[in-house]
Amino acid sequence: MHNLFSKLNPKHPLIILIVYDFCTQPILTCYQILTASLILLAIKQVDNIEFSYISFVNPFLPRCRVLIMLSRSVLILKWVFLLIIILANGNPPEEPVKCSNNFTNCTITNSYGAFPDRSTCHAAEATYPSSEEDIVLIVANATREKRKMRVATRYSHSIPKLACPDGEDGLIISTENLNRIINVDKEKMLVTVESGVTLMQLIDEAAKSGLALPYTPYWWGLTIGGLLGTGAHGSTLLGNGSAIHDQVVQMRIVTPGSQEDGYASVRTLKEEGELDGEIMAAKVSLGVLGVISQVTLKLQPMFKRSVTFLPKNDTDLSDQVATFGRQHEFADMTWYPSQKRVVYRIDDRVSSNVYGNGLWDHPGFQATPSLALLTLRLTEELEEATGDVVGKCIRGRLTTDTIRNTAFGLTNNGIFFTEYPVIGYQNRLQASGGCLKGLIDAKITTCRWDPRVNGLFFHQTTISIALSKAKDFIQDIQKLVSIAPQSLCGLDIYNGILMRYVTGSNAYIGEQEDSLEFDITYYRSKDPKTPRLFEDVLEEIEQMAVFKYSGLPHWGKNRNVAFEGAIKKYKNAAEFLKVKEKYDPLGLFSSEWTDQVLGLKGGLTIVKEGCALEGLCVCSEDIHCAPEKGYLCRPGKVFQDARVCTLVQVSTQSSSKAEL
Ligand SMILES: Cc1cc2nc3c(=O)[nH]c(=O)nc-3n(C[C@H](O)[C@H](O)[C@H](O)COP(=O)(O)OP(=O)(O)OC[C@H]3O[C@@H](n4cnc5c(N)ncnc54)[C@H](O)[C@@H]3O)c2cc1C
Repeated sequence: MHNLFSKLNPKHPLIILIVYDFCTQPILTCYQILTASLILLAIKQVDNIEFSYISFVNPFLPRCRVLIMLSRSVLILKWVFLLIIILANGNPPEEPVKCSNNFTNCTITNSYGAFPDRSTCHAAEATYPSSEEDIVLIVANATREKRKMRVATRYSHSIPKLACPDGEDGLIISTENLNRIINVDKEKMLVTVESGVTLMQLIDEAAKSGLALPYTPYWWGLTIGGLLGTGAHGSTLLGNGSAIHDQVVQMRIVTPGSQEDGYASVRTLKEEGELDGEIMAAKVSLGVLGVISQVTLKLQPMFKRSVTFLPKNDTDLSDQVATFGRQHEFADMTWYPSQKRVVYRIDDRVSSNVYGNGLWDHPGFQATPSLALLTLRLTEELEEATGDVVGKCIRGRLTTDTIRNTAFGLTNNGIFFTEYPVIGYQNRLQASGGCLKGLIDAKITTCRWDPRVNGLFFHQTTISIALSKAKDFIQDIQKLVSIAPQSLCGLDIYNGILMRYVTGSNAYIGEQEDSLEFDITYYRSKDPKTPRLFEDVLEEIEQMAVFKYSGLPHWGKNRNVAFEGAIKKYKNAAEFLKVKEKYDPLGLFSSEWTDQVLGLKGGLTIVKEGCALEGLCVCSEDIHCAPEKGYLCRPGKVFQDARVCTLVQVSTQSSSKAEL
C-alpha cells in the first residue's frame, strides 16, 4: 500500500479513477477498460500525471479480481470529466422520421432501421402537434383532403410496418412533442399524460408523488400511445392485468369527423362509461382509430419488491410454468434450451419497511460501446459464414454466464451487487434504459440495436401461448433440442428466450386468455437471401407457436408469418372492426399493413425467392429457401406440418458443421 501512494503527490486529493471488476463486469465493458487505458496513457503524455493502481481479489466472488486506479493530481479532474462522458453516456437513438425540408418528402423506419420486408416507407409530410388542439386541426385538414395518416412516435420501436402511411402522399403525425404529464391526482391515484410521454417519464413522475404503475414493459423508451397501440405488457398473472392498457381508466382520442363536425371529433372514453365498448377497442388499436391525445391511468401506492434470479436445469420447466406464475407476482423466466438451463425470476412485493434500495439496469438496455457492438456482430457473422456452431455455443455460454455473474443488471444499492434478494422500490426495479440517456457523443456508445453502428441485427418472434398449452410447446422445443442439441445456442447471445406471463384482457384485440409469452431474438443476416445456422429449427418453433399452438403474435414485434390468421383468434375482432368503421369510415388511419393483419386485405405473406428466410412466407417450394446454398423446403422434425428451410445438401466442409 505504501508503494502505491509513494509516487503520488500527497498534497493533492486522492481520486479514484476506475473501479473495475474483471469477472463480474459485463464482457462488453472490456472495451471500456481498453478505451480508458488508452485515454490514461494519453493523459500521462499530455499532462504528465502520475497514476497508481491496486488489484485484489473480490471478497464476494473469490474467482474475480478488482482493479482500482488512483491518482493525486488536481489536473486529473478535467480528464475525469472527459472519461465520464466517454464511458458513461449513451447516444440517444436517431429520429425514425426524416424529411428533406420543411417537414415534407419524408421517410420513416423503425428503431432497428429495417422492417420485416426491409422496405423504406415514404410520406409526403410529417407534422409535430404539441397539444390536442393542434391534433384536431391536423386531423380535420387531412380528413377534408381524404389524406392517409399514421401516428408515429419518437423512437418507433415496433418491428412490423405499423408506422407507415400508405403510398407516397401520406401524413405522419408524430407524438414527439406531446410529452407532458398533465395531472397527477395523488388522492385518487390517477395520472393523466399526453400520449407521447415515455414510460420512463411516467414512472419518474408517478414516483415523485409516491405512486407506481404495477406492471409495465421492461424498457423505458416506449411511449404511452405506442404501448397502447400494440398491447405492450410486463409479466404477471396477478393483480388487474399484465398490460399497460389494463391500467387505463380514461382516454381522449381525436378521430376523423363529418363535415358537420368540422372533419374531426374528440371523444372521451371511460372505463365503465357510456362508450364502454369503444374503450375496449381503443385500448389496443394499432393506431387505426385516430390519434390518442391523452391517457389516464390508475396507479398504486409506491411499494417495494424483492427479486432473486434462480438458475436451474430445465428438466421440469414444462411442469413448472403453469404454477410458477401464480406463486410470484412479477415472475418471469429466461430459458437457454441448448444449455438445458432456465433462470427463474422470483419477484414479489414486500413491506416498505424491509431495508433495500435496489436498482435494475437491464444489461440489454445499457449504453454499449459501438466498437464492442461491431466486434460482436463481426464475430457472429463469421460464425454464421463458417458454420462455427461450437464457437456460437461457447460464446452463448460466456454471454449468459457473464449476465448471471452481473446479477442480470441488479444491484443492491444502485452501485454494487452483493447478494440476493435485491430489495428496492418499484420505480427502480420495473424498467430501465440506460442507452436512452446522455448527450450526443459521436456514437461512441449506443443502444445495442442502433442501426447507425454496425451492431446487433436480429429477428424477434414474440408469441403468447395459452397457459394450458405452454407445457406441450416447451416439450416440443425440448424435443427439437434433443434432435439438434446445439441448434439454439445462437439464442444465448441474445440472452435466451424470455418467457413472461400475460393475462387475458377485455381489450378487443388484446390478450385472449392467461398465457405465457415467448420472446425469441435471433440472428438476421444483412443479406436477405442468406439462411442462418439452424434456420429450420427456428422456423419450426415459429410455425409451431402460430399454427400448432394457436399463439397470438405481439402486435409490435414479429415477422409476417406470425400474423397469418391471427385476427381469427380474437373473439371480439368484429366488435373492434365496428368501432373502426364508426371512428374512421374512410380508413384514413388504416394502412396496407393494418388492413392485412386485421384480415381486411390479402398479401400479408410475401411469396418470392428466399421469402421463408425472412419470415415473409412459409415455404412451399425450395425457391422460397436458398437452394443454391443447400437449403430446401422440408417438413418439420417435430411438427410435421411445418414447412421449413432445411440444410440438406452439404456442399462444403464448413457448412457440414451446421447440418442437423
Ligand atoms: C428495446 C425494446 C424493449 C421492448 N420491451 C417490451 C416489453 O417489455 N413488453 C412489451 O410488450 N413490448 C416491448 N417492446 C415492444 C413494444 O411494446 C412495441 O414495439 C411498442 O409498444 C412500441 O412503442 P413505441 O412507443 O415505440 O410505438 P410505435 O412503435 O411508434 O407505435 C406503435 C403503434 O402505436 C400507434 N400509436 C402510437 N402512438 C399513438 C397515438 N398517440 N395514438 C394512436 N396511435 C398511436 C402507432 O401508430 C403504431 O401503430 C419492446 C421494444 C423494444 C425496442
